[in-house]
Amino acid sequence: MFKKILIANRGEIALRIQRACREMGILAVVVHSEADTGAKYVKLADESVCIGPAPSRDSYLNIPAIISAAEVTDAEAIHPGYGFLSENADFAERVEKSGFSFIGPRPESIRLMGDKVSAKQAMAAAGVPTVPGSNGALSEDAREIVKVARSVGYPVIIKAAGGGGGRGMRVVHTEAALMNAVTMTRQEAQAAFGNPNVYMEKFLENPRHIEIQVLADQHRNAVWLGDRDCSMQRRHQKIIEEAPAPGLNRRLVEKIGDRCVEACRKINYRGAGTFEFLFENGEFYFIEMNTRLQVEHPVTEMVTGLDIVQEQIRVAAGEKLRFKQRDVVQKGHSIECRINAEDPYKFTPSPGRITSWHPPGGPGVRVDSHAYAGYFVPPNYDSMIGKVICYGDTREQALARMRVAMSEMIVEGILTNIPLHRELLIDEKFMLGGTSIHYLEKRLAARQAV
Ligand code: ADP
Repeated sequence: MFKKILIANRGEIALRIQRACREMGILAVVVHSEADTGAKYVKLADESVCIGPAPSRDSYLNIPAIISAAEVTDAEAIHPGYGFLSENADFAERVEKSGFSFIGPRPESIRLMGDKVSAKQAMAAAGVPTVPGSNGALSEDAREIVKVARSVGYPVIIKAAGGGGGRGMRVVHTEAALMNAVTMTRQEAQAAFGNPNVYMEKFLENPRHIEIQVLADQHRNAVWLGDRDCSMQRRHQKIIEEAPAPGLNRRLVEKIGDRCVEACRKINYRGAGTFEFLFENGEFYFIEMNTRLQVEHPVTEMVTGLDIVQEQIRVAAGEKLRFKQRDVVQKGHSIECRINAEDPYKFTPSPGRITSWHPPGGPGVRVDSHAYAGYFVPPNYDSMIGKVICYGDTREQALARMRVAMSEMIVEGILTNIPLHRELLIDEKFMLGGTSIHYLEKRLAARQAV
């Protein structure tokens, strides 16, 4: 097992990974920008290294600075967390070429899955159901493109092969608008991702977002750790997640989970990963794979009893998975609310000093956050300042606990989205379960109208 791990991330996830290390008796080095120097989680680490000024490109995205921090501290492995460099194949490669273990998949897997066209083809080949659409990237031939759209049926969505973060997509409702949309998306894709390739999919009008967590070791063993529903989103940003996804046919979920495991074996995947699907009218459609730890991994931990970060570390150290598929059981229900430093109505970021911080507690309540009274939320990064995760024997109990948790939680000095969570937790449709990915935005639009 590693003796020392460097964490190439910040905030709640840097603290989360540190906790996993400490429990395992591994020393944790945290790198940080000048904006994060005084943060308590940085002081808590066994060692910390300042890697540059506040802007991410000069610090958390600064590959040479991170590698030298690992060298000077004698770390053996690097955990990238989520966001920042976590899905950067060049970073993973540099880490390994410099003699460190990358706590994540092989660079080839990151590259394969980072190109959505190759990812979709690889999944289809492994028997994972995908959204109907073009067979690979679209050609330059307009007649051919029109033909594909007709056979798929309108509306269609044009997506950039190199896209990410909800960018590089365009919905097309009519043939008249098709070619212009393809040209525009190509140009944007070239400018934003340096890859002009685009592909076409049927646009699903009212899907849910369901995902499958997987874990694979370096000895060709792979398991799936259950499913999550992350349909409560605004501008493709998830705000509430839960496990398992409510109301699904469990046989079908198992079939999809097994396909994902098969796909992991086929591409020789290593580490934790997530297969993301749109789910509509009883069918799963693969959209992409995230080759990293997800923000919402705790809901899976709560229902499976596993520590996904510790498993990532074990697998990276070359250990075999300690359990088989039949040992993985989802028990009870878990819900996560992301706490963002933002205006709960206008969604503008609200950085600044937290003057009071009263996190919730009690049975089945977990708080993953690096924040505290007196903490200054820097304006330079993502607005998420923590996550509250509630567990219950049933979804109703998990919801009830979350309602109590959100009523107890007090954050002052900055604005947060806690008032929005309080509203959503008593929303009748959400309480029934199974709302679509458009539900929150429609509800917010209705709220503005009154
Ligand atoms: P990204 O990597 O940018 O997140 P995804 O392929 O995961 O891109 O798509 C992001 C979001 O765009 C999805 O969660 C969904 O809301 C929407 N989307 C993508 N493909 C489709 C589709 N075929 N039909 C309907 N919505 C889609």
